[in-house]
Amino acid sequence: MVTVESILNKLGIESVNPGACYGADGWITPKEGKRLVSVNPATGEELATVIQADEESYDIVVAKAAEAFKTWRMTPAPRRGQLVRDLGIALRELKEPLGELVTLEMGKIRQEGLGEVQEMIDICDFAVGLSRQLYGKSMHSERPLHRMYEHWHPLGIVGVISAFNFPVAVWSWNAAIASVCGDPVIWKPSSSTPLTAIAVQRICNQVMADYGLDGLFGVVIGPGRTVGERLISDQRIPLISFTGSTAMGRRVNEVVAKRLGNTILELGGNNAIIVSENADLDMVIPAIVFGAVGTAGQRCTSTRRIIAHSSIVDTLTDRIVHAYKQVRIGNPIDENTLMGPLVNRTAVDTMMKALETVQTHGGTIVTGGKELPEHGENFVEPAVVRMSKQTDIVRDETFAPILYILAYDTIDEAVEIHNDVPQGLSSAIFTTNLLEAEQFLSHGGSDCGIANVNIGTSGAEIGGAFGGEKDTGGGREAGSDAWQAYMRRQTSTTNWSKELPLAQGIKFELS
Ligand code: NAD
Repeated sequence: MVTVESILNKLGIESVNPGACYGADGWITPKEGKRLVSVNPATGEELATVIQADEESYDIVVAKAAEAFKTWRMTPAPRRGQLVRDLGIALRELKEPLGELVTLEMGKIRQEGLGEVQEMIDICDFAVGLSRQLYGKSMHSERPLHRMYEHWHPLGIVGVISAFNFPVAVWSWNAAIASVCGDPVIWKPSSSTPLTAIAVQRICNQVMADYGLDGLFGVVIGPGRTVGERLISDQRIPLISFTGSTAMGRRVNEVVAKRLGNTILELGGNNAIIVSENADLDMVIPAIVFGAVGTAGQRCTSTRRIIAHSSIVDTLTDRIVHAYKQVRIGNPIDENTLMGPLVNRTAVDTMMKALETVQTHGGTIVTGGKELPEHGENFVEPAVVRMSKQTDIVRDETFAPILYILAYDTIDEAVEIHNDVPQGLSSAIFTTNLLEAEQFLSHGGSDCGIANVNIGTSGAEIGGAFGGEKDTGGGREAGSDAWQAYMRRQTSTTNWSKELPLAQGIKFELS
């Protein structure tokens, strides 16, 4: 049987140190810190209690990171990559217990918990290669015998604030890239998932120790309104990478912009799949069910809306309802389970309230939407709702497994409905018609950061830049050139002539 003790044992953690910050010569237990209990959302079992960070302990962690930056920025990037390679190796070895801990603490099914750790491994691999590819451009100077080029320098401490639904992967997207870029990372995880953060920090500690380093990775566990606010208003932290709700993201943006810091904002999504009359429905159904029900609808990329051609919308709805009946709901640690609980009671109440509202907005619940107290207080049936039009409740991101189905007649109309929401994260079209697919991907098509053809909205690969537009915040993380946000660009011109010509041919001659 998988228990928290057996998992911690496999992770080499004998007891959970009550101190919830790490940054200076070990774990710190703040004298004034308040207790935080980590709870398994499937069973209500208390997994661990930690003492949260206070101002003093927070400052120690930042001071240590600032110290580490001085050495780390001077370490050659390929050497920095070696440390990240070793982090990836450690994660490979501990994939199973860490993935299971994610399941126990967050409630996503075991396969998704393991997938999250795999994502950590993948981004480490990517970052190792990147450590030899932090390329700058060279330009042709307009002045003779001048060399003009740009290079990329480490930026400084990166503050990472993460959401509950990806308790470890989001940290790694930031930490692996920031590390090869030469930046220390201070992590404030969600208060729903402190134990996984402590486990990851312990893995980092071992890797840092192997390199005789400390302070490169630090963690501060504490409430958003105190520790989070401290982090975002801290002038010593040039970049805040925030993942969470749009409401919180607005606050983070305001505070960091005021001090002229930088942000990467990864906020809410309201992702849709357009299903054309030319779609292969055998491919569509599993994509929809995984997208809408996976992680119990608690992914930023969860499929929340289906926009289906009116000629197939009834058939499609019937097939979705049939598929939903096969979703096995239960304890997420059981290999057979396909859907676990919501994260807490508040999430269940929010879902129930949305379903009540939806019915006054002309929506009809065609399946699901009930609580399942026989499984535990956070369990629900995933719901499918037919809507005659897109109303405000559909435009909101309800972070729960509610799938709205809307109909369209022309592809132009489908794209219009698709884009008529505040968020702009992930999107998809299922069609075998090339013209429709290209229209969806064109300048006038999907307005999201991610747009897929014949693939669902959920489950991105780390090689691409990940993020979204509009209320999703505009940030980009992970692959492609997302690394540039973690560095500062410097443009340099070297004059190797014996003259001092000015740019734009300006004459400035001293007599
Ligand atoms: P949340 O906004 O409630 O919390 C996110 C983080 O912000 C937590 O660590 C929280 O402690 C912290 N926080 C709270 N108040 C703060 C403050 N005043 N200052 C600084 N930090 C503060 O979000 P959640 O419920 O944990 O996660 C769900 C949301 O996250 C959804 O909207 C989802 O779409 C979004 N999300 C987005 C992405 C993405 O990549 N776009 C990924 C995962 C989750």
